[in-house]
Order: sequence, then C-alpha cells, then structure tokens
Amino acid sequence: MTSVVGVAVLLLTYLQVEWDRREALRQNVADMENLSAALTRQAESTIRDAHTVLIGIERKLQISGYGAANLSEVLEVARAQSAILADVEGFTVLDANGHPLLTTVPNATTNYTALDRDYFAVHSTNQVTGLHIGAPIQSRMSGDWVISLTLRLSDANGEFRGVVLATLLVQHFVDFYQTIDLGSQGVIGMVKRDGTLLVRSQQSTENAGLNLSRSPVLRAVNEDGVRHGSMVLTAMIDGVKRVYGFDTSDEYPILVAASLGEEQAMAAWRSRALQTWSLSGGVLVILLSMGWLIWRALGRQGRMEARLQSMHRDLALANHALEIIAGEDALTGLANRRRLDEALGVAFQSAAAQRQPLSFVLLDVDYFKRFNDQYGHPAGDEALKQVAAVLKRHARRSADTTARYGGEELALILPAAESASAMAVAERIRADVEALAIAHQGSPYANLTLSIGVASCIPGQTMQAPADLVAAADVALYAAKSAGRNRVALSERPG
Ligand code: GH3
Ligand code: MG
Ligand code: MG
Repeated sequence: MTSVVGVAVLLLTYLQVEWDRREALRQNVADMENLSAALTRQAESTIRDAHTVLIGIERKLQISGYGAANLSEVLEVARAQSAILADVEGFTVLDANGHPLLTTVPNATTNYTALDRDYFAVHSTNQVTGLHIGAPIQSRMSGDWVISLTLRLSDANGEFRGVVLATLLVQHFVDFYQTIDLGSQGVIGMVKRDGTLLVRSQQSTENAGLNLSRSPVLRAVNEDGVRHGSMVLTAMIDGVKRVYGFDTSDEYPILVAASLGEEQAMAAWRSRALQTWSLSGGVLVILLSMGWLIWRALGRQGRMEARLQSMHRDLALANHALEIIAGEDALTGLANRRRLDEALGVAFQSAAAQRQPLSFVLLDVDYFKRFNDQYGHPAGDEALKQVAAVLKRHARRSADTTARYGGEELALILPAAESASAMAVAERIRADVEALAIAHQGSPYANLTLSIGVASCIPGQTMQAPADLVAAADVALYAAKSAGRNRVALSERPG
C-alpha cells in the first residue's frame, strides 16, 4: 500500500516537473520568437532608411551628373540625412576606380581606393541589381567596423560609374542589442541569408564575417524555406546550448536570431523542479516512516499475542501452584497429596498422644488405563470425580480426611478407627462404586471397580512413622489387585 502511494507520488511529481519544463521552454521560445521578429523589423527599417538615401543619391547623380556643383549639392543633402540617421556612419560616392568623390563621414581619410572591396567587384561586374549588403569590414575612412550597403552607379548607357555606399556602424547594433537583457549566455545575431555574420551582441569584431551557412537555423531557412521559428541548439561559435528564436526579413536578405542560454533560460524551472522534488521527497519520507511505523506496530501486535499466550501458560502454572498451596485437588475437590501428608502427620501424632488407633485406606481404580483408552480421558476424569464423591460420602467424621494420593489412587485417613471398622468403611465404598455401574468393557467386571488396601496401627506403638502405615496399605492394595481386583484387603502387618 505504502509503495503504491510512493510510486504514485513519484509519477505525479515527474509529470508535474515535466509539464512545467515544457511550459517554461514554450514561454522562452515564444519570447525569443517575438524578440527576433521585433529586431528583424528594426534592422529592416535601419537598412531601409539608408537604402532610401542611397537611391536618392544614385538618382540625382544619374539625372544631374558628376559636375562639382551637383556633387556639392548631393553632399549637402546627404550630410543632413546622415545627421538624422544615427546608425549610419556616413554616405560615400566612389568613382569607377574606387576613389571617394564625396563622403559625409566626418574627418574621413579620402586618399584610398575601394577597388579591392568585395562590394566594388560585385557592382562593377553587375552581379546584383539593387542594394548589396556586404560583410562587416573595418572602414578605411574611420577605422570603425561597418556593414556596407551599396548601389551601383551607371551612366545613361548603363556603363559602370562607381558605387554609392552607406556604412552602418556595427557598434551601434551591438550597443542596442546589449540594452536587451538576455542573461550572460543570451546572444542576438544578425546574419545574411548566405550565412555571413553581420552583428553579434557578444565578441562582434572577432567573429566578423564568420560564415554560418551550415548552422541549422540557416539550413532551415535556405533549404526548407522556413521564415521564422525556434530551435534549441548548441552554438557553432562557443558551444553553448541555447534556445533560439529567429525571423527573416522579406525586404532584405537578412535574418535576426535572439537566444537565451538554455541553462539560464531554464534556471527558474530548475529551482521549481528542485522544490517540487524536495517536497515530494519529504512526502515520501513521511509515507515510508508511516509505513514503517504501521509495520512495526503490526509486529508489536504479533509480539503482544505471543506474550498473551505465554501469560496464559504462566497463569495455568500459577493456578497449579495455587492449587498446591490451597491443598486441594482441582479435579476431585479432595485434599491433595501435600495436605494428605500433613493431615496424616497430624493424625499420627495426635493418635500417638491419645494412644488411639489410626487407619489408612488406599484406593485404586481397576484397569483405569484401559478405561481411558476406550472412553477417552475426559470420561476418565468424570469417572474419577464420581469415585471421589463416593469416597467423600463415606468420610463421616470430621477428623476423617479424603485425599487424592496421585493419579487414579485415592486415600482416606480414619482416626480412631481400628481395622475392623476401617475394613467395613472400605467395603461400603467398594460396593458403592460398583453400584455406580459405570460401564467398563475392558474390565472382567464390565463396570468400573476399585481395589482397596487397608492398614491400621496404634501410632508410636505398633508403628513409628506415617510412612509405615502408608506402605502397609500399599502392600494390602497390591494384594487386593493380585487376588483379582474389585476387593478390599487388610494389611497383614500387625496393627
Ligand atoms: P490396575 O488395575 O493395575 O490399577 O491398572 P490401571 O490401568 O488402573 O493402572 P495403571 O497404573 O497402569 O494406570 C493408571 C492410569 O490412570 C494411567 C493414567 O492414564 C490414569 N490416570 C491417572 N490420573 C488420571 C486422571 O486424573 N484422569 C484420567 N482420566 N486418568 C488418570
Ligand atoms: Mg495405580
Ligand atoms: Mg489402577
């Protein structure tokens, strides 16, 4: 019973903790999905703002040309726009050789060429139409890490005239991402669809340009066409297990992923789980100790029963002892052997003092063993009681003592009786027992009978001790048995 309840407690605890874990994970996943969606919108709008300015510059140059007046007009407008767009470091126009024609980047170094930059090659060879987003680079104008947004400049004939460039400060994204509290293991990353890492909220410059195209998120996006979702992954960059939410932009080939360290994300759940397990552990301990107490109490009950039984035995022994002390035989109600001995001693002494005769009668049931064997012990007891009752009836005088000598042998002390009267009493007892007509198939008399030995003496004269009298009666009894039973014999010892 206790173990069934124990198992149920364990099972319920497991289910509760597991349910709670799923709920906590679901909540974390939902949070990361929402956050990545919001950050994707933020990145889109930042890029869109710069993109809008780039289109303005590209159009104006196409329409109004590269004359000094137009260039200074373009610069003027771009400066004003750049001042408003905080994430944009500046706008720059590069000629077909990669030399800066103008830039809004303050204090910029301008004696360089961008000919070797990826974006330059992309546009001069017409690999893209529209906006190109480049991998993070360290700006040659300012030294800052930037993401390049570029458009191709063409003349009226479609010939390559250069590139118009907006540079977004990586640090601005990092700063912004770091205002969002995702714990020490949480990370936000902006990635190009081709796997190029643009911004990472931790260690951004070290990982600049890292290719993540093999990551499960990008594979889901590029190979399975997933637009947004969530994953639990161990990061390629630092090997930390995280809960990721991600969202891709419909306007630009970028996506933003927001993540929480799994350990931190689930920390609240873990402490709840620990609490729940401790609680049910406590319940289990209580249950087990209750079970143990009940088990022990049951054992104690068993021991109490055993003690009760031994008390019964002790009581029986005590009763027996009491019986002896009381001097009465429980079955027959006659004096017991102890009291018989005492009474005989007293009678012997007072008879000696008064010079009176004393007779002792010893009675034995004939073939009593066979009687028991045939009719059973309880019937034997019953017969013994009846014989004892007959004996009592014939102890007429107050000094006469009837006793159970032992087993099926009874005795009668007759003070002041000489052998003739003792023989007469004995004969009446024998006749009365025969007259009871207690059926006894095993006896040649067919009824229960007695053999009786009688001995008489004058104490102190013809005999010196009570034991002599008893021995004489016993010899007489033996003689009665030998002579055929159901008879009375007198001791031949001079009395
Ligand atoms: P015998 O005629 O020679 O006296 O034969 P017996 O069978 O009477 O004598 P024995 O001494 O062989 O057997 C005595 C029997 O008395 C054996 C015992 O079972 C029985 N007995 C002694 N005390 C009691 C008692 O209190 N109740 C019962 N039912 N039987 C008793
Ligand atoms: Mg006997
Ligand atoms: Mg007998």
